[in-house]
Amino acid sequence: MFKSPISVSAYSMDNTISISNLERHFQRGEMDVWALRGINLTIASGEFVALVGPSGSGKSTLLNLLGGLDRPSSGELWVAGLPLHDADGKARTAHRRHRVGFIFQSFNLLPRLTAVENVAIPLTLAGVSPAERTARAAAMLQKVGLGQRLDHYPAELSGGEQQRTAVARALIHGPSLILADEPTGNMDSTTGAEVMALLQALNKEQGITLVVVTHDADVAAYADRVVHLKDGQVAELTVNNPPSPVTEEHSSATGNALSANNAQSRLSLADTVRSAFRNLGRRPVRNVLTAAGVLIGIITLVAMVSFGVGVQREVQRNFETVGLENIFVSPTYDEAALDSFDPFAPPQPKQALTPEIVEKLRAIPGVTAVTPELQLPNGVDLTLTLAGESLPVRVSSDMGERNFRFGGASEPLAGQLFGDGENAGVVLTSGLADRLLAEGQDYADLVGQSVVLTAKLPRGESQDFPSTVVGVRDSFSSRTIDLGLGETEAVLTWWYNQPDILETQGYDMVIVRAESLGLVTAVSAAIQELDLEAQSLETILDAANQVLSLLQALLGSVGALALLVAALGVANTMMMAIYERTREIGVLKALGAAPGEIRLLFTTEAALIGLIGGVFGLIFGTLLGRLVDWVAHRYLINEGVTGVGHLSVVPPWLAVGALVFAALIGLLAGLYPAARAARLDPVQALRHE
Ligand code: ADP
Ligand code: MG
Repeated sequence: MFKSPISVSAYSMDNTISISNLERHFQRGEMDVWALRGINLTIASGEFVALVGPSGSGKSTLLNLLGGLDRPSSGELWVAGLPLHDADGKARTAHRRHRVGFIFQSFNLLPRLTAVENVAIPLTLAGVSPAERTARAAAMLQKVGLGQRLDHYPAELSGGEQQRTAVARALIHGPSLILADEPTGNMDSTTGAEVMALLQALNKEQGITLVVVTHDADVAAYADRVVHLKDGQVAELTVNNPPSPVTEEHSSATGNALSANNAQSRLSLADTVRSAFRNLGRRPVRNVLTAAGVLIGIITLVAMVSFGVGVQREVQRNFETVGLENIFVSPTYDEAALDSFDPFAPPQPKQALTPEIVEKLRAIPGVTAVTPELQLPNGVDLTLTLAGESLPVRVSSDMGERNFRFGGASEPLAGQLFGDGENAGVVLTSGLADRLLAEGQDYADLVGQSVVLTAKLPRGESQDFPSTVVGVRDSFSSRTIDLGLGETEAVLTWWYNQPDILETQGYDMVIVRAESLGLVTAVSAAIQELDLEAQSLETILDAANQVLSLLQALLGSVGALALLVAALGVANTMMMAIYERTREIGVLKALGAAPGEIRLLFTTEAALIGLIGGVFGLIFGTLLGRLVDWVAHRYLINEGVTGVGHLSVVPPWLAVGALVFAALIGLLAGLYPAARAARLDPVQALRHE
């Protein structure tokens, strides 16, 4: 006897079945059920055997053992040299797939597949191409007399037609053994006789071994031999016809290419995906709702991450226009001094930004420009008078407000703006300039004009400061001016009544521009040696990026949470699908589907639910981002801010990542249900209603 069950020779040799002392024992709660108690039987290759006996006598149990759907408790069962009693799951799957054709009482056709597709299932499992299997299935249906019913669904076929379709399916892969469990049990006697005649013809013409379970004496009469079972034992053997000799021709007819040569064949990925799509289509509403869970998660994820990416890019772009070579220098303060007893005393800097220090900063090698900044206190009430027109104004607070606006530093509309190191006079914002223009004047006419700034103390005392308009810059503000350093110092000196204010308090901030980005670190270090604080835009940008990344991570996790919920939905849907399709899983297993293939089918379905949710989530998420973008632009334009880029950006990595992530969520959610489906016991699954 052959010990190697999958060797090619094992399939082409004599198909004798020999059974000795075969027992099958079930434990049902406390009760022991002996379905088979020591069967001894030999079935010759090409023989037609009927298994008869009362209900519960063990007929189905024996048939399932012959088909490798079940394992005996003890005894031996050899089929064509294969020790089935001792075969592992893989070998039993191969046995079903290559040697056995099953026919069931209730036909067990898959309702969503046409007759041709049902017949082609074993070929699909064997990885045969769609064109070839359709042709072969159609030819087989022709053979069983159903050439006119190829594209009919099972529900459109009569019982006899359904069973003939099932016969065609059992034959399609060229099995050497057909196992039929009460094949005529659901038919009237005429139709039953037709089906039996068909099976008998197959047995006679092709030499296929045929084992048919029946309790119908008329059906048993077709067989060569009738085996009577009673209480799990062979009670009687009746010989109807002498066993027909199996000719070489016959046995070669059953040695079909599929069973002999395609031992390694398997379900193709294309068929897996096709089948998954089809199965999803069976429950469209449920699956769409499940996918919607994923969709919502992906929308959140995509919209939020894209917004984070867009904002980050805009910030980066604006920082770059201002210039990453800028270093912001501010005074440092003594921790101890800040803790002083008098909370109202102005904080004394450890090192003030005095004009002397500014000169030292200018002297640092690699520094190209030094711009001191001085601010007026909030309470200063300023009025600007130009050619007899007086308007209340406010002074822009620092270089940030002047230059760091969305869209970057702007060109002057007239005259010049405050640049590196130079700021004297007054720069008007366009909104303010508009109010000062006389009939027929343009901005250029304002440049060079004398103005008077009147500062007023809360007590009512006031002081005039003469100055000159040096330029006009674009801004929506209608009351902001940029004020030169000299003018600011003059106002401050008067305000605090402190002539040496710069020498004692110093500037508020100094902007130092390094010659190149590469020198920023060295210049910063030199500044810090003067006991000053130096912050480059790069360090600020890093901090901003960190905050934005954190924000993105936070927003992203909201989406991730939604996806977690969606994953539970997918798992639930798959559990339901598996419950509903338990019987179908049993059929597929009987037809030779390996557990791995069942698992693959269901994980693919789950991944597809995720992917479908992901595709629509990506589309809607992108649209949502666009919408937010549009609303934000509307708002910014209303506020007078222009030149802002897209605030919501979906880079390719986000699109691909979202889809992969969605599919992965589905797949992971489907793993457990699919593993359950793969583990289902085929006999139990086939019994499932
Ligand atoms: P038949 O097909 O001849 O009607 P079966 O082979 O289905 O009978 O069953 C034989 C006996 O084994 C019956 O008593 C049945 O209840 C029992 N049996 C079959 N399968 C199981 C099972 N999975 N668990 C417990 N008992 C079972
Ligand atoms: Mg039965």
